[in-house]
Amino acid sequence: MSNHHVYINGTWHKGNEEKRSIINPSNEQVITEINDASLQQTREAIEAARHAFQYTNWPADPSYRISVLRQLADLLEKDTEKFAYIETINTGKPIRESRLDVSDSVQCLRYYANFLEQRTMTEKKMADGTTSKIIAEPIGVCALIVPWNFPLLLGIWKIAPALAAGNTIVFKPSELTPLSLLELTKLIDSIGLPPGVFNLVPGGGSPVGETLVTHPHVEKISFTGGTKTGRWIYEQCAGSLKRVSLELGGKSPLLVFEDADLDNAVEWAMFASFLNQGEVCVAASRILVHEHLYDSFIDKLIKRLDSLHIGDPLDEKTEMGPLISSSHLEKVETYIQLGLQEGAVLLRGGERIKEQGYYLSPAVFVNIHQDMRIVQEEIFGPVITVQRFNNDKEAIELANDTIYGLAAGIFSRDLERAEQIARKLRAGTIWINSYHTPYVDAPWGGFKQSGIGRELGPQGFTAFTETKHVNISENGKPLGWYQ
Ligand code: NAD
Repeated sequence: MSNHHVYINGTWHKGNEEKRSIINPSNEQVITEINDASLQQTREAIEAARHAFQYTNWPADPSYRISVLRQLADLLEKDTEKFAYIETINTGKPIRESRLDVSDSVQCLRYYANFLEQRTMTEKKMADGTTSKIIAEPIGVCALIVPWNFPLLLGIWKIAPALAAGNTIVFKPSELTPLSLLELTKLIDSIGLPPGVFNLVPGGGSPVGETLVTHPHVEKISFTGGTKTGRWIYEQCAGSLKRVSLELGGKSPLLVFEDADLDNAVEWAMFASFLNQGEVCVAASRILVHEHLYDSFIDKLIKRLDSLHIGDPLDEKTEMGPLISSSHLEKVETYIQLGLQEGAVLLRGGERIKEQGYYLSPAVFVNIHQDMRIVQEEIFGPVITVQRFNNDKEAIELANDTIYGLAAGIFSRDLERAEQIARKLRAGTIWINSYHTPYVDAPWGGFKQSGIGRELGPQGFTAFTETKHVNISENGKPLGWYQ
């Protein structure tokens, strides 16, 4: 890989002098070294995006933006294996999951191309005979900041609607996982967008991320990451009322009612909790089971856990790979110790299982109290708590009792009852008898401290627009107030 990793105004640049090692979490080897964007380059990228927005023919007409999105989708689809490989060696996620991330990304680009094609402008006759047009305009320079767990997919969730709406972009990938975004930028470069429409500034929270957040010429921050960082960003944006969308952390419950299909519920719980090693914002990290099913649920879950294929994420059979980094592994282990100190019982897992790589066996805690920190705080790894409940009211209370509200799962054969429960859960996405699937045409986001705003679907497009009302009077006759 070339040592030019910063993309500004349609040109690749060498970043600052310091090199950042990008590690393969499955073997702890250095994949490559990256030169982050400097403070000066970050500012230049913002000015390039501003210039492109104000002085080039971008946002052009919608048909051009539609063709850009479709070209990018085609190029990405053609390179599925390459992107899946890069994502897997950089994040540690099983290769099968990486392929899904690429195909979901392709779908997302096509969805926003179709969305733009089918969009109609609202025009209405007003009571006084004038005509009003309601126009969704681009906001301007948007800084897009993503975490390390789904670098490509979460990047596309922002890039596709931001471009569709006609904004210009300064993109910051996570300092741990910039590789797929570097590769994506090459595809974007090959399409020949006007210089400055898309800029890439790899680097960490400081100085790159903080500069994007605090710079007066950035008009919108679209951030996905931890709630602590999201709070800080929100505070910074308050001063200038900068537009902000926040997709933050979670502590999502999965509720298994007494009439659930037990085998299905166990299989879904495994998937809901341990997909991507549990490093998923919506991971079901709290399993709530009706007391009638509790013992058999635990038995089946433990049996299924023992057959889980943990190993090399490039192996097609692998169901769970390593955690992202040694420091994250340590953080997750600290929570396991904390759980034990709090009096929870560790039924399985929580152990390092390979000499090389940041592997941790999935941990299941029982004997849980709602006020334990392992129940209240996001661990972001393969650690779950399993609690009992007696009735619907108790299940709902336990499910809602954290600061988060990203997602929830409900398992019951009675769909009417499940829908009633869904209405009572304070979370942005509720899956009934399934889990995890994001649908590009349905909104994604959090209640409470899981975020502000929504991605995907029409809402994801609106988040990158300002609404303008143009009122037209045909005859222009004065109202006569001052005569
Ligand atoms: P993080 O908040 O540490 O970092 C996220 C991104 O923000 C990274 O690119 C990081 O470099 C950048 N950043 C850090 N400090 C910054 C600052 N002061 N200013 C600007 N940018 C800054 O989160 P993480 O550890 O990378 O990711 C894990 C978190 O992301 C979890 O809490 C998870 O739940 C959340 N997440 C949420 C969603 C969602 O859709 N709601 C999706 C994926 C991950």
